[in-house]
Amino acid sequence: MDCVFCRIVQGELPAEKVYEDEAFVAFRDIRPKAPVHVLVVPKAHVARLSDYPDTEDGERALGQLFRTANRVARDVLKLEGYRVQVNVGEAGGQEVFHVHVHVLGGWRR
Ligand code: 5GP
Ligand code: ZN
Repeated sequence: MDCVFCRIVQGELPAEKVYEDEAFVAFRDIRPKAPVHVLVVPKAHVARLSDYPDTEDGERALGQLFRTANRVARDVLKLEGYRVQVNVGEAGGQEVFHVHVHVLGGWRR
């Protein structure tokens, strides 16, 4: 398996996890671009956000992903406000091809 986030999900690579449930894990970005920078990652490998199908299953998966990002930002990290970002495809700046939502915050406490 050569997907770095699958390896983190499997526990084969270390990461500073802040949240985990059946379907998602969230961990601190190795090169933070904000005082708080966490990546929310589905355990199931999906390469790009645009790969979620235009079906009810796809809609559910997207909803769960963003619901989890809210939970992590609001309830775990206690951020008053935050930014969420998803880079999609090489042309969109995506470097790791396993879906992840960036949660950025902590500029003001
Ligand atoms: P992308 O550009 O794909 O949206 O963002 C990938 C992010 O993953 C980058 O912010 C990068 O710093 C982070 N990253 C890449 N490899 C690792 C890693 O092995 N561990 C952690 N914690 N973050 C990583
Ligand atoms: Zn993966």
